[in-house]
Amino acid sequence: MPERTKSKKYVIVTGGVISGLGKGIVAASLGLLLKSKGYKVTIQKLDPYLNVDPGTMSPFQHGEVFVLDDGSETDLDLGHYERFIDIDMGRANNTTAGQVYYDVIEKERRGDYLGSTVQIIPHVTDQIKQRITALEKDHDDLEIILTEIGGTVGDIESLPFLEAVRQFQQERGPENVIIVHVTLIPFVQASAEMKTKPTQHSVMRMREIGLQPDILVCRTEYTLTRDIREKLALFCNVKAERVIQGLDAKTIYEVPLFFNREHLSEIVLERLGMDDRPAELTYLRRFVNHIANPATTVTIGVAGKYVQLVDAYKSIIEAFAHAGVDNDCKVEIRWIDAEQNEAAENIEAELEGLDGILIPGGFGYRGIEGKIRAARYAREKGIPFLGICLGLQVAVIEFARFVAGLENANSTEFDENTPHPVIHLMPSQETVTTKGATMRLGAYECKLRKDTKSFLAYGETHITERHRHRFEVNNDYREGLEKAGMIISGTSPDDMLVEMVELKDHPWFVATQAHPELKSRIGRTHPLFREFVHAAVKFHHNR
Ligand code: GLN
Repeated sequence: MPERTKSKKYVIVTGGVISGLGKGIVAASLGLLLKSKGYKVTIQKLDPYLNVDPGTMSPFQHGEVFVLDDGSETDLDLGHYERFIDIDMGRANNTTAGQVYYDVIEKERRGDYLGSTVQIIPHVTDQIKQRITALEKDHDDLEIILTEIGGTVGDIESLPFLEAVRQFQQERGPENVIIVHVTLIPFVQASAEMKTKPTQHSVMRMREIGLQPDILVCRTEYTLTRDIREKLALFCNVKAERVIQGLDAKTIYEVPLFFNREHLSEIVLERLGMDDRPAELTYLRRFVNHIANPATTVTIGVAGKYVQLVDAYKSIIEAFAHAGVDNDCKVEIRWIDAEQNEAAENIEAELEGLDGILIPGGFGYRGIEGKIRAARYAREKGIPFLGICLGLQVAVIEFARFVAGLENANSTEFDENTPHPVIHLMPSQETVTTKGATMRLGAYECKLRKDTKSFLAYGETHITERHRHRFEVNNDYREGLEKAGMIISGTSPDDMLVEMVELKDHPWFVATQAHPELKSRIGRTHPLFREFVHAAVKFHHNR
């Protein structure tokens, strides 16, 4: 058999006209639909920026860094992929131009290119193709690989990636590699018209570099008429039935259902020469229905420092959506700028009327005192509280200062000279100084103490959670904190690291050093979010 027919199937997702069209949601939704038809799928993202990974990018600019089990720091779209298709992804699921160039330059320095002139074509494009196919090498059972190319067609940065796709399609055959182009159909109010020209131009750009979209996914505020579909078909050289409408949805979880009505996965399978099968989507319909018809609404305050760009807390927002479904409620989030509201009176006013308080992860001193006030407020008023990573550290500092009587207790991240470094770097970490090098990243095991709220939430004693932090609870203070009434409910299996804490005399005050929000998925809500929202609903009704 020639190599071609044995090939895995690839769906390349590109974007046109403008950024921010939700290509990631399109890829995740298509992945979900194909999976619901019983196919083994995964999704990868190729990012054309030059950072080696988003780990060093500001959350203000780039949103959340999504950490995987293997410790790789990836684009937030990977979060959508995992939430929608419910698989654990790895390093090979996200590649950046930075990584590609890094590989090429390393090879050049090693002399791997045997004296040839190193060029974008073929050396960079070869490296990109190697990264595209890395997943099929590791996972033989995969049937369809979706590859989302970040950026917009026409960007200089995207060019080597699109050229690599052209070569790849050439090598594997058009029956094995198809292209879904996500584009925008704007509506011009003045003439009350939908406009196809931007899409025509973006497809023209694609064709200039030798790529012909097989399917157009058109983001639009209004229903696409037959006429518009036919016009797009004619000018873009795509069959009219392969012009898919992507209407704005009330919740992203509705998007796969929209696309299902447009037969998106059927068309993809047909183009790939694969059988169509019935889709199992009952659970998703139920899920979306729940989101649309909640019995109550609870308001949860999130006291962070990146609240101007809520993409920085994407996974938290989604985990609340999932937990709302389980608790038959809508979780309304009140964003509290911990930095702007550092003064006690300010933050108290902002926290008034909340049914729960969450302190998310974060780095740096700004906003810390505001967060400590928020934790204190939750503790004293018996408001359900969930601390995540920095949120645990803040809860420990607050408890140390105001319950255990350790004046000016702090983390050495914020005050190197604190008399009570309740949060610090472990001595073993202190010698490593390169930025990023001491970070505890990826999945770590944790053992839970029975008879705790943490254990009750998880329902098991051995759990694994993802981490991304440098500082740890100082073991020298454990005894003192416990004596004062803090429960250390989870530790590393060797007992050396504090992983979870909670309060005895409080309805629900739980904090974790990990990032549980990264593991909440449709139909598999993270237990801590489920229980936290449950406590918030109870608190709401008892007010
Ligand atoms: N800044 C803290 C640390 O490095 C917490 C990090 C986080 O919340 N992700 O330990």
